[in-house]
Amino acid sequence: MAEEPHANGGARSRRLVTIGPGDVRLEVEATERRTLAADDVRLRVLRVGICGSDAHILDGTHPYLGYPVVQGHEIVARVEAVGHNSSALHPGDVVVVEPALACGECPTCRRGSTNCCPDLQVVGVHRDGGLADALIVPRRATHPVAEVPIDAAVFVEPIAVALWALRRGRMRKGDRVLVLGAGSLGRSVVLAAAAAGAAVTVADRSPARRHLAAALGADSSLSPHDLRGVAGTRGAPDLVIDTTGSSELISIAAEVVRPAGLIVVVGISEDALDVPVADFSRRELAVVGARNSVGMFPAAIDLVRSHAAALVNTIQLRVPLEGASDALLAVAGRTIHGRALVVVSDI
Ligand SMILES: [Zn+2]
Ligand SMILES: [Zn+2]
Repeated sequence: MAEEPHANGGARSRRLVTIGPGDVRLEVEATERRTLAADDVRLRVLRVGICGSDAHILDGTHPYLGYPVVQGHEIVARVEAVGHNSSALHPGDVVVVEPALACGECPTCRRGSTNCCPDLQVVGVHRDGGLADALIVPRRATHPVAEVPIDAAVFVEPIAVALWALRRGRMRKGDRVLVLGAGSLGRSVVLAAAAAGAAVTVADRSPARRHLAAALGADSSLSPHDLRGVAGTRGAPDLVIDTTGSSELISIAAEVVRPAGLIVVVGISEDALDVPVADFSRRELAVVGARNSVGMFPAAIDLVRSHAAALVNTIQLRVPLEGASDALLAVAGRTIHGRALVVVSDI
């Protein structure tokens, strides 16, 4: 154990705590002078992106979490102090946090599926996240982002999730990819698929969201009402990535995907899926899930670096930490179509 070198004598720290569904409170307390474990780093949070899963946590429809929790899993931060074993990082470095922390030792982890570890702890979901001045995470959860603008760096986490979904979907250059949902994650999938050479169609009921998706590389877009006609106009999709969790849309996707194509479900909901069993043999229907990401952060950082301006252009709402509950409510209530960003600190 190392004594933390930068203790803030007399300083106060803020944290926004989600006590339970719909109940968010800002707590201010004296900054603790804590010792830092050898493998940990202490961060000063700079930016937090708010996404659909935060909205699910706020309204109590996230299938796996416990309250109370400090939300925020799309985190950009500055290193304040490092433990003994974290010598590769230095105070002052800007990092993004890879929020899914696996045990690394169970049979699932040993097979490489660390994202599905039964003891998975996701920062901002199962353990306290970025909607706070200070955050301590293991060194292995951080990735330096020296050449990425701070506002753009909040996109690294959702882009990593998008890259993993495309990996799960075995996307190849030239594939016709249909993306269900043009929210933060859907647009991340659009960008990642288009950058990898796919022909991308996006379905969302909001024209404003479809417009944002077009600016990130979608070749065409449509309303979910017209989804059954997608094969007629564009050719049946080789791959469908669902970011909505809507069983209705996923069922339609199972009808329109080409025979032996693939559907990847990233969206979360409490829906149950009802598809004809015969389609699994008749059309080799394949539906797979995707959760968080494994090993995608370096590629995501590169992608965000090369598309930083286009991504930052999708930011619609910027609020200070005191206003973060407004951002959560705006995302939950779909009153905004672009990204919501919490500016925790500029230091
Ligand atoms: Zn997210
Ligand atoms: Zn594990």
